[in-house]
Amino acid sequence: MKFGGTSVEDANAFRNVAKIVLAAADSIPVVIVSAVSGFTNSLLQSVDRAFRGDPRHATRSLEPDFARHLAIAKELLNAESNSKFEHTVATARAEVRQLHKIIAAHPVTTPPLQDEIVAYGEQLSSQLLAAVLREHGLAARQLDARRSIKTDESYGAAVPLPETVDATRAEVMPLLESSKLPVLGGFIGSTSNGVTTTLGRGGSDYTAALVGAALDAREIQIWTDVSGVLTADPRVVQEAKTIPVLSYQEAAELAYFGAKVLHPKTIQPAIDKNIPVRVCNSRVPADAGTLIVAESEATPQTIKAIAHKNGITTVQVTSARMLGAYGFLRKLFEVFDQHHTAVDVVTTSEVSVSLSIDDATRLPELIPDLEQLGTVEVEEDRNIISVVGEGLRNKPGIAAKVFSVISPIHVSMISVGASSVNLTFMVDAEHAAEAITRLHRVCFEENAAVPDKKAVSTQALPESRATAPIASGARRSSRG
Ligand code: ADP
Ligand code: ASP
Ligand code: MG
Repeated sequence: MKFGGTSVEDANAFRNVAKIVLAAADSIPVVIVSAVSGFTNSLLQSVDRAFRGDPRHATRSLEPDFARHLAIAKELLNAESNSKFEHTVATARAEVRQLHKIIAAHPVTTPPLQDEIVAYGEQLSSQLLAAVLREHGLAARQLDARRSIKTDESYGAAVPLPETVDATRAEVMPLLESSKLPVLGGFIGSTSNGVTTTLGRGGSDYTAALVGAALDAREIQIWTDVSGVLTADPRVVQEAKTIPVLSYQEAAELAYFGAKVLHPKTIQPAIDKNIPVRVCNSRVPADAGTLIVAESEATPQTIKAIAHKNGITTVQVTSARMLGAYGFLRKLFEVFDQHHTAVDVVTTSEVSVSLSIDDATRLPELIPDLEQLGTVEVEEDRNIISVVGEGLRNKPGIAAKVFSVISPIHVSMISVGASSVNLTFMVDAEHAAEAITRLHRVCFEENAAVPDKKAVSTQALPESRATAPIASGARRSSRG
């Protein structure tokens, strides 16, 4: 059972979590918890302040968050547990202060020390939640997730290693065998040398899946602030509705193409062990939420949802040398490989290739190498929109329907058929909300009037990801 940041945002939220876990006590749960909402952002900002040479202010900036933890403890814990937790917070504050000082004096230490600092978010929330659960009569024990989740050294986006399975079992099973309830922080791990790492923003979902798979859990539950995976991002489409059942592949595509409710890597460990994933609302636990299962069980075959991801950069490489030549695409992808840049969507013609990338930080070094291959054109601040559903596999006319609905909006990089459950295309940031709303109306809101094809609004979209957006609107072009 994984509880996200908003599920532990205040004392009342902690109380709700305790009730939910208590109700599930007979099923032998293992609890994973995120940092209290907003704390990871504050911790990252504090690292930035220390890096810019202001360690004192960096530590001070965390005071409101430490105070939130103390207020929750004071409200929910007995005097003895409360004073123990006060000591835990005081120790955390002193340790973070030391780490800020080290970063300010030696900025090269920032990548590993940033993860070390950020880990206090999940360490504190898991200790507090274990204490709150004990207060509710459960035999809860906090475990340091860094001893279970073993990773490589890619700080900030660490990749779990196979050792995680044995390490998790060694940590968790003895507690379960003695009828204790293990509580672990999500998101954090450590290298084989014991150096703290993190799994990337939103990574607590991934921790839950890794732990669930390691323990051969009956179900992996993601408890969040909405009633399951919805037909669209509810911040864009108010009418978005819960999808009762999704296949693993549908859920993976939605998560990958921006549905923030699930970290994109969550589904793979569940697939590996064929464990159902359930997404539920910690504020309305009685709601059924979404069940994610293997394809064969996930009927009916319809369009299930629209996902979107903003802050996307597209790169187009054009070269007549591509015509009839072999080895061109290998060379092209090698450039992205050398610069550690992941490519999402690819479309090609006889003489050009378009690629979309999510993280454009290495683009300035990458472009000169691409220019060896052809003319390079870069467009920033694009949005990927993805229509997902097993229904796309064999329903004729879906693409025609989708594009006629959004016909006034310019689309590019259309990709259909590469995955049998996904139709993907790119629009300008300013037209994304309009495109999603139009599609949602036609796909999910029965009897809705077909939208006026001429009116195209330019409503801004919320962030689909926790990562910072890149500068908008710029268009660069160069001759190779
Ligand atoms: P948590 O803190 O529980 O991990 P997140 O904020 O990471 O929660 O994810 C839940 C949020 O994801 C929702 O509040 C919603 O705004 C957003 N979201 C985006 N797309 C979807 C979608 N298709 N279905 C449900 N939620 C979505
Ligand atoms: N606390 C981490 C974050 O804010 C991990 C998570 O919430 O899943 O990204
Ligand atoms: Mg999340």
